[in-house]
Amino acid sequence: MRAIVIGSGIGGPVAATALRRAGIDVSVHEAHAGPGTTLGAQLNLAPNGLAVLRTLGLLEAVLAAPGTIPNSTIDFRSGTGRRLGAIDDGSTALEEGLQSVSVRRGELQAALARAATGHGVTVEYGRRLVRHTDTGASVVAEFEDGSTEEADVLIGADGIHSRVRRGIDPSAPAPVYTGLLDQGGWTTAPGLPTTPPSTSRLVWGRRAFFGYQSAPDGTVYWFVNTPHRDLDESTLRSRDAAWWKRSALDLFTGQMPEITAILEASEEHWFAPRAVHTVPTLPHWVRGRVGLLGDAAHALPNSSGQGASMALEDAATLAACLRDVAGPEAALAAYERLRRPRVERIIAEGTQRGDLKLITNPVGVFLRDRVLLPLVFRMVARTEGHSWIFDHRVDVDARVGPVS
Ligand SMILES: Cc1cc2nc3c(=O)[nH]c(=O)nc-3n(C[C@H](O)[C@H](O)[C@H](O)COP(=O)(O)OP(=O)(O)OC[C@H]3O[C@@H](n4cnc5c(N)ncnc54)[C@H](O)[C@@H]3O)c2cc1C
Repeated sequence: MRAIVIGSGIGGPVAATALRRAGIDVSVHEAHAGPGTTLGAQLNLAPNGLAVLRTLGLLEAVLAAPGTIPNSTIDFRSGTGRRLGAIDDGSTALEEGLQSVSVRRGELQAALARAATGHGVTVEYGRRLVRHTDTGASVVAEFEDGSTEEADVLIGADGIHSRVRRGIDPSAPAPVYTGLLDQGGWTTAPGLPTTPPSTSRLVWGRRAFFGYQSAPDGTVYWFVNTPHRDLDESTLRSRDAAWWKRSALDLFTGQMPEITAILEASEEHWFAPRAVHTVPTLPHWVRGRVGLLGDAAHALPNSSGQGASMALEDAATLAACLRDVAGPEAALAAYERLRRPRVERIIAEGTQRGDLKLITNPVGVFLRDRVLLPLVFRMVARTEGHSWIFDHRVDVDARVGPVS
């Protein structure tokens, strides 16, 4: 069997590594011109995602990548710095290597692509898919440069604005803007605020949400989520980095001085917001010989902290199905049936938390900080917390039995 993977972000190279391990010949085709070590800011990898990397022999490379730091506790503050609560995700009790981490997204995708290449995968850059055709006997991918590739299966790991998704189902619902802009980066300067080891601080400001964490080498990682109701991409792009930096500083005027210090110390190039989108529940993740994984199938709210880990779980499950279930169509259908219930439960949980970030009126902010959030923290402490998400293990070597 031969497979084509579109996209060498997070899920793509891992799917390719898992497919190679399953004895399937595979190539990855990425639109960007190179591995993109500087693309994006930070993202979280949770124990369930790290466990996938471990089964594929990719964990060491990720833990050793520049900027990877443990992050198992969140300390929540109001804009004035008042402590609202803390959540320890419990991952420090797990086996060595599975403690939640924050990683530089660009370094992660580059490390995963390198590791995939080491496992015999071909990763081709500068190859943007424009369309695919499922002939019933094979799939033909056409690229912007006019070249084509043919394979038995095509996997769309091409992110939130997936071209493969449109090819599978032109009437699939489009990504929905969440009302939030996201920007972030990192900075080093003497005297910046620090956080306790393995702890990030999330601040529910009056007008925007801020997160930061210091690394042992003194680097401070940060992000801002800003409510911005009406998205107008051309207006967003027409404002330069200096404007966005001033605007970010303005959002936190008179609030925690640590935030101002971090933003002031940060280089302007980090101030380039991305509009945060989610993908509504799709009628189909797969069709015929073509399947979607990661954000292409189900972009999660960014507050779930599970976007990358879900892409990794998808990648391993999909490869195991293609190995064990006879026929590409049946294998892809089994993959969707196995993955959909879990992903949709995680989306439902993350969506509730995302909505709280949109509150900016003073009464709403008061109720959120004094009533809602303390209630949420108490509930998380009483219930099983994150364990149903974190304890899930996708063993890529386990045989996939009949899937109903
Ligand atoms: C540039 C960029 C920056 C990001 N920054 C952050 C961040 O700072 N924090 C965060 O939490 N999440 C960020 N994300 C999203 C995060 O990577 C994903 O939510 C998550 O990791 C799921 O990964 P994925 O592999 O499904 O998708 P992605 O990581 O989005 O990877 C999709 C890949 O497909 C490629 N691609 C898209 N269309 C085509 C095409 N037609 N042909 C070939 N290749 C194509 C893209 O260039 C990309 O490399 C970013 C995504 C991108 C693309």
